Amino acid sequence: MEQSSTKVIQELIMATNNAHKLEEVRQILGNDFTVKSLRDIGCTEEIPETADSLEGNALQKARYVHEHYGVDCFADDTGLEVDFLNGAPGVFTARFGAMNGYGESHDADANIRCLLEKLKDADTRTARFRTVIALVQGNKEYLFEGIVKGTILPQKVGEGGFGYDPVFAPIEADGLAFAQMTPEAKNVISHRGRATQKLAEFLIQTEH
Ligand code: IMP
Repeated sequence: MEQSSTKVIQELIMATNNAHKLEEVRQILGNDFTVKSLRDIGCTEEIPETADSLEGNALQKARYVHEHYGVDCFADDTGLEVDFLNGAPGVFTARFGAMNGYGESHDADANIRCLLEKLKDADTRTARFRTVIALVQGNKEYLFEGIVKGTILPQKVGEGGFGYDPVFAPIEADGLAFAQMTPEAKNVISHRGRATQKLAEFLIQTEH
C-alpha cells in the first residue's frame, strides 16, 4: 500500500516587524518554515529591551512574546563592536547617534554620521557585527551566535540593506560594503545569516 507523506511546515514567530530582517531570515529558513512577525500575531506594543547585553535583550524579547502570547518565539539582537571604540557601540548600536547628540534613536543616517565622526582620526577601523538569537520553545531556552568581521569605510557607499550597511565592509567581500551586495550574498556571510543558519540546523535536527 502506498503511504502518503505530508510534510509538516513548522510555524515560527520572530519577535520583529523589521521587513529586512524577516526577509533575510525567511530566505535562510526556506520552505520548511513559516516565519510570522509580531504584527501577524497582533503584538503591536513596544517590547522592552532593557538588558545590558545582546544575549539579555534577545532573551527578554523572546520571553515577552512567549509569556504574553503563549507561542514559541525567537528574537535577535545585534551589535556593532568597533575595536577603536573598545567594543562600542555594542548593545547601544541602535541608539548610538541619539546618545551622542545626532538625531533620533534608530535613525540609521544619524548613527552613521556619529560613527564616522568618532573614527575620523582612528588608526584602525576594524569592527565586527555580532548577532544573538534567543529561541524560547516550551519551557526551554536556546542561544545562537553569529559574527562577521570587517572594517568601517570612511564614507557611505551602495544602496542596499539597512542600518550601518553602507559603511560596513566584511572581510570576505573584497572591499564591498554590505549595502553593495545582493541580499543573498549578504546572507551567506552576515552575522544574522550565520546565527540564523545555526537556528535552522537546530530546528531541523530537533524536528519531529
Ligand atoms: P537590532 O538588533 O535590530 O536592535 O539592531 C541594532 C542596530 O544594529 C540597529 O541600529 C540596526 O540598524 C543595526 N543592524 C542590525 N543588523 C544590521 C545589519 O545587518 N546591517 C547593518 N546594520 C544592522
